[in-house]
Amino acid sequence: MNPLRSMILAAAGNDTVRRLVATAPGTRAVVDRFVAGETVADAVTAVGRLVDDGLFATLDHLGEHTVDEAQAEHAVRTYLGLLDRLQEEGLSSRVEVSVKLSAVGLKLDEKLALDNAFRICAAAGQCGTTVTLDMEEHETTDATLRLLGELRHTWPWVGAVLQSYLRRTEDDVAALAGPDSRVRLCKGAYAAPAAVAYRRGHDVDLSYLWCANRLLAGEGYPMFATHDPRLIRILGERVRWYGRKQGSYEYQMLYGVRPAEQRRLASEGETVRVYVPFGEQWFGYLMRRLAERPANLGFFLRALASR
Ligand code: FAD
Repeated sequence: MNPLRSMILAAAGNDTVRRLVATAPGTRAVVDRFVAGETVADAVTAVGRLVDDGLFATLDHLGEHTVDEAQAEHAVRTYLGLLDRLQEEGLSSRVEVSVKLSAVGLKLDEKLALDNAFRICAAAGQCGTTVTLDMEEHETTDATLRLLGELRHTWPWVGAVLQSYLRRTEDDVAALAGPDSRVRLCKGAYAAPAAVAYRRGHDVDLSYLWCANRLLAGEGYPMFATHDPRLIRILGERVRWYGRKQGSYEYQMLYGVRPAEQRRLASEGETVRVYVPFGEQWFGYLMRRLAERPANLGFFLRALASR
């Protein structure tokens, strides 16, 4: 892994860095580029605009690694309120939610996280929308897939995320390419050791394409989450090779990243879903975005320097 990337991801867990970044005057401008706001109302406004532009969205209430039951309950209630608002605004056919199991209690107790995720899925089902379980650090992959399996007994539409940087993903993808499955394929955003993860970008890309082929050959609904122009071009070719019709797969990108490309793909008839984070706990999310792209880091440092 690139040493700068490792350094930023290490800083993401450091409280002193968190305090420094949070209080720096230029931080707000950077946060606003990648995060849709702090409240449910901000989030609903942001996705309303995306839908008006012909896009789909998945909303993520920021917060992870909850070690307090009350905080997990707060996250669940925020999702329940959000789902109500999406239905009231007539957005639930184009907007779903993404949930980090660590935000609803996975670090406290697996059963609590399952019960909480169950409540969110039940509300989503009532609103006519779906839930995707974000994938976090590699130590949580087994538990996340276990809970996904439990939830899918009741709601087969609950989506999984697989990270192509993990060596295990080629096996996981085979297990998840069946009928009704919804799998978001991404490269992976966390620090992971060489024993479990590919370190070279080229290997991560090869694994991505291997997994994409398995998903396209399978019977599920693949969701290709990447901004990588080369991968997007190759995916377009593979989609045609497998005879997949538009609407039987989708592209996904992050809020604030390559917005022109999001609209270009949508204008060609592709389903494009934008991952829209909102909430007060933006630090970990922002650090992962900075680690991905040195240009984002430059933007951040310039904003800090302009105070
Ligand atoms: P990268 O290797 O980061 O970039 C490849 C190329 O893409 C760059 O060279 C550049 O040409 C282009 N590019 C990338 N960023 C930009 C930019 N800001 N502006 C212009 N061009 C750019 N990770 C997880 O671990 N778990 C998850 O649950 C998860 N969910 C995700 C959901 C969505 C919808 C998306 C899009 C990503 C998600 N990720 C998740 C993050 C993902 O794992 C990657 O870290 C992130 O997408 C960066 O990888 P990339 O495929 O875009 O390619």
